[in-house]
Amino acid sequence: MDVARGLAGVREQIARAAARAGRDPAGVELVAVSKRQPAVAIREAFAAGHRAFGENYAQELRDKAAELADLEGLRWHAIGPLQTNKAKYVAAVAHAFHALDRVEVARELGRRRLADPLPCYVEVNVAGEESKHGVPPEALPDLLAALREVPGVALVGLMTMPPWGDPEAARPHFRTLRGLAERHGLAGLSMGSTDDVEVAVEEGATVVRVGRSIFGERPT
Ligand SMILES: *Cc1c(COP(=O)(O)O)cnc(C)c1O
Repeated sequence: MDVARGLAGVREQIARAAARAGRDPAGVELVAVSKRQPAVAIREAFAAGHRAFGENYAQELRDKAAELADLEGLRWHAIGPLQTNKAKYVAAVAHAFHALDRVEVARELGRRRLADPLPCYVEVNVAGEESKHGVPPEALPDLLAALREVPGVALVGLMTMPPWGDPEAARPHFRTLRGLAERHGLAGLSMGSTDDVEVAVEEGATVVRVGRSIFGERPT
């Protein structure tokens, strides 16, 4: 997989979708999801000018951040569910966390980031899928109220992973997420990956998390 070409292709998709929606493509940040990809692939993307990378697993993030510490200006986005005992790895290196759904995790992150609050997206299980992480929409108001009291975390937006499948099927879920964010005064919308990035941008994504169309299929 040619990583530079993959990045250019996704940027084109973002530009096309933004144009259709009358949006400025500069308002959409591309996070290149590098989970299970080797450090060399991240170096390749960095050399092509890319700076924002997404990792799911806290220990993998810790190890890659150490291995790639020489890449100045690289920004790590932690995008996967997190256990309290691994929050320290995320707090140490992350530029943002996209999968916040519990106050306990926020406390563990926040107490390590008092001087430099960690931007966080609250993950919402919009479709109510049992297999998915995230807070159900009806529990969001209480969770947000509790999270706003936690020092060291900065609530910047909402995140969702729609059901897998047809991108058009994701559209109503993205729309729901946007409505929830507006209702709660949150500007950030982290939504859209390889299969549905264009729909997500049309529906207002401010951050998209794209892996396979940049790096190819993940090694197993
Ligand atoms: C893996 C992953 C992505 C990227 O998925 P692709 O299909 O590779 O684009 C985005 N968000 C989360 C939370 C992920 O776990």
